[in-house]
Amino acid sequence: MTLNELQNSVDNWINTYGVRYFDVKTNMILLTEEVGEMARVIARKYGEQSVKKNEILNLEDEIADVLWVLTCIANQTNINLTDALNKNFEKKTLRDKNRHISNDKLLK
Ligand SMILES: [Mg+2]
Repeated sequence: MTLNELQNSVDNWINTYGVRYFDVKTNMILLTEEVGEMARVIARKYGEQSVKKNEILNLEDEIADVLWVLTCIANQTNINLTDALNKNFEKKTLRDKNRHISNDKLLK
């Protein structure tokens, strides 16, 4: 699935089953909630927090939830994720092409 296909699929789903998008501010709150759920899984699966009895940890699903809400926000603010990512790669490459390579801390 390309990013354009992702944006179209989310838009189709929202229009078919979701009635309409939540407003941007609500989706921002929901994105924060989903990032928190992802953090919860990472704290337990890769961090030092223990897993509660009967707790289900599904990082794949939580990452998909984050991407879903992020895509909703992109759609409703007319941001093309392919263009945005291409520009972002360009920015990072121009800014950081030597930064990490010359970071001695990364070589330890
Ligand atoms: Mg979730």
